Amino acid sequence: MSTSSSSSNRPPSRRSVHGVPTKCWCGKGLVIWASETKENPFRRFYRCEVALQRKSECHLFKWEDEAILDEVRMLDAKVMDLVHDFHSLSKTVIEQLDSHKTCLLQLEGELRSLMANSVDEATRQMKEDIDAVLSSNITTTHLCDNGGAYNFAAAVAIVGAIAFIYWKLF
Ligand SMILES: [Zn+2]
Repeated sequence: MSTSSSSSNRPPSRRSVHGVPTKCWCGKGLVIWASETKENPFRRFYRCEVALQRKSECHLFKWEDEAILDEVRMLDAKVMDLVHDFHSLSKTVIEQLDSHKTCLLQLEGELRSLMANSVDEATRQMKEDIDAVLSSNITTTHLCDNGGAYNFAAAVAIVGAIAFIYWKLF
């Protein structure tokens, strides 16, 4: 930090600079000086070295405390922007999640309906198949009883009866 008595009055600024300045309008780097005026004793400010030598020229001037206050305000504005963006993003994400949830619930309902229909159809088909098999077995058993064992037993009985008659007669 340097001290200067030549900056007793704040020169008119050519244009406003937001935040902490890094360079003068002339392209030179800035130095922090301390004011020696009665109005602003020891108050620090940014100024290039050229400005102190060529007082008639218009060079950047900014109080350090105002520059820092600017930075804080700019950061506050950025934080507010980020908070706003965050709330917008949260709202969008929540809306999209709700939309997806609704779609998923619809799909779940459709899947449940499809599965129930498939199970009903499979059950009905299986029942028909079982009924058909049972019906076929009953018919087969009935035919076997009448046509197989029953006919054989009848034939044996007839042959036995004939043999008994022959044995009694002769
Ligand atoms: Zn300058």
